[in-house]
Amino acid sequence: MLPCMVEKRVIISLMYKEIVVSLADLRYLSIECPICHTKVTLDMKDKSELAKKYAFFTPIECPGCQTKYDTAIPQTIDSFQKSYASLLEIAERISFHGPVEKES
Ligand SMILES: [Zn+2]
Repeated sequence: MLPCMVEKRVIISLMYKEIVVSLADLRYLSIECPICHTKVTLDMKDKSELAKKYAFFTPIECPGCQTKYDTAIPQTIDSFQKSYASLLEIAERISFHGPVEKES
């Protein structure tokens, strides 16, 4: 087999190993505490009653060990949720792509 044919086969193979996720299929976001590993899952589509009442989306501290998250995390996730909400109408037309991790 010619070397150029091998190269073409690899490229085609990589194309099939790509993960594609539509924005419409993404709804929940989880944050893991680096200290106690408690995971908080937030509904990006329908904010919780607490989030609506206090006009924030992301908690400022871990509910497991009460350690405050890095201050940039809640602000950045709040901004991400606002962007997500503004794109919901066209969510079917937006997708995320990424490579599949190689098995070792
Ligand atoms: Zn924690």
